[in-house]
Amino acid sequence: MHDRLAEGLSAIIADPAGVLTAPAVLDRLSHDFYWYSPVLRPKLASKNGDIAVLPVNVEEVLAVLRFAGRNEIPVTVRGAGTGNYGQCVPLHGGIVLDLSLMDKLEEITADGVAVCQPGLRLGALETEARKQGWELRMYPSTLVKASLGGFLAGGSGGIGSVAHGGLRDFDTVRAFEVVTMEEEPRVVLHEGASVHEILHAWGTNGILTRIWFALAKAEQWTQFTAVFDTYEQAFTFTESIATDAKWTKRLATVFEWPIPSFFTPIKKLVRDGKSMALVMIANAQIEKLTGAAKAAGGEVTFSGAYDGPRTQPLLSDYTWNHTTLWAMKADPAYTYLQCGFSATKCRDQFHKLRERYGNEILFHIEFMKNGEGIVIPGAIPVVRFTTEERLNEMISYCRSIGVFVANPHVNYLEDGGRFRADNIQLLAKQKYDPRGLLNPGKMISFQKQTVAP
Ligand SMILES: Cc1cc2nc3c(=O)[nH]c(=O)nc-3n(C[C@H](O)[C@H](O)[C@H](O)COP(=O)(O)OP(=O)(O)OC[C@H]3O[C@@H](n4cnc5c(N)ncnc54)[C@H](O)[C@@H]3O)c2cc1C
Repeated sequence: MHDRLAEGLSAIIADPAGVLTAPAVLDRLSHDFYWYSPVLRPKLASKNGDIAVLPVNVEEVLAVLRFAGRNEIPVTVRGAGTGNYGQCVPLHGGIVLDLSLMDKLEEITADGVAVCQPGLRLGALETEARKQGWELRMYPSTLVKASLGGFLAGGSGGIGSVAHGGLRDFDTVRAFEVVTMEEEPRVVLHEGASVHEILHAWGTNGILTRIWFALAKAEQWTQFTAVFDTYEQAFTFTESIATDAKWTKRLATVFEWPIPSFFTPIKKLVRDGKSMALVMIANAQIEKLTGAAKAAGGEVTFSGAYDGPRTQPLLSDYTWNHTTLWAMKADPAYTYLQCGFSATKCRDQFHKLRERYGNEILFHIEFMKNGEGIVIPGAIPVVRFTTEERLNEMISYCRSIGVFVANPHVNYLEDGGRFRADNIQLLAKQKYDPRGLLNPGKMISFQKQTVAP
């Protein structure tokens, strides 16, 4: 089987070095950060692709999909493999389509739209964009490694979302070309609203091969931390910055104690027993922000320029889902949830969760703008894991008190919080992948169409 696959793929890829079969390499290319979830860890550890292939252009992608389709072989596409839920783990073997060599930035247009290949790393795009007076509207904390295609297909938002919303908001994703898994694969342009058919569908209904991604005008940013005696103080201060349009910000994060104690490389910025606010603010507003933090009872522990992804310390390395990583390093019994609290009832929701679960749940807030333009306390709380049942009970309880949860402990789209109620991702799968060969098992509402006898 492996030999036949290797022979077939080597015949269609110009550089035979782009066909990989070594077991250790396949194991690496078949996994992401699925191990973040104690529930997914045992389920996905042994899942591997049978072969990996690294195309260098869209013609090769088309040829691989044609070959896979004719031989009914599953294809799981991979960017940089930094996803959290085993999004790019092949459940049924087959071909791992690694797009890391398709990493060109074609151009940044005069009105600030980056035209890119999918394997382009977000850090490289941010660096180049800033040279040209632009910057990413938003990026995951995996900025340096993650690819643009993987972000669009698997991510949701991140640093910058407090100002620009998530990936699906405000026309940030202008357009892309998608390679289909039809009988005869083709390249289809999706622009405007039709991007939502493919966005965040985990490569189950098409392969993104060229992307038009809107940028923001570059700003000079300062990274800032302040510590507060209580979580309530840290939260209220950060909320006032996040929700007031007069502040130009890129990041507004709150960590309840003891989360800051997990951040060993920046322990000078941490104070024992204190909750922490972490903000990226326009340079011009740093003095005012310092004054506001002091007036709110805070002690400013750091302020320093952000100068692109190579900045040290890069404080975004402690935010979004990096926070969970630091928690797990400190104590492997920690895991996480992905939540959205109510802008108006969040204090009551915090109170209810604390009453019911005590310190089993620790608050880590990431403020973000929603599609209606309202800034809400998004959250990636750190959770002490005991059993899957307990975790599911916590998720149910969160939902019962109006806290949105995108469940990061499942490996299919439908419970991940971004599946569209209007089913357009499913309809696109039925159209573009009727045989169910793209990343099979990840869109469970899809049923292979049976041909009438
Ligand atoms: C420490 C840590 C922090 C993180 N922080 C954030 C965060 O702040 N915000 C956030 O949104 N996410 C975050 N994530 C998740 C992840 O890093 C991002 O979603 C990232 O953008 C994924 O990019 P990638 O290239 O690694 O994608 P991969 O993991 O390679 O792929 C993700 C999914 O997209 C599919 N895919 C990849 N390329 C394509 C393509 N060209 N066409 C179609 N489908 C494709 C894959 O099959 C897979 O289903 C974090 C993860 C970790 C481990």
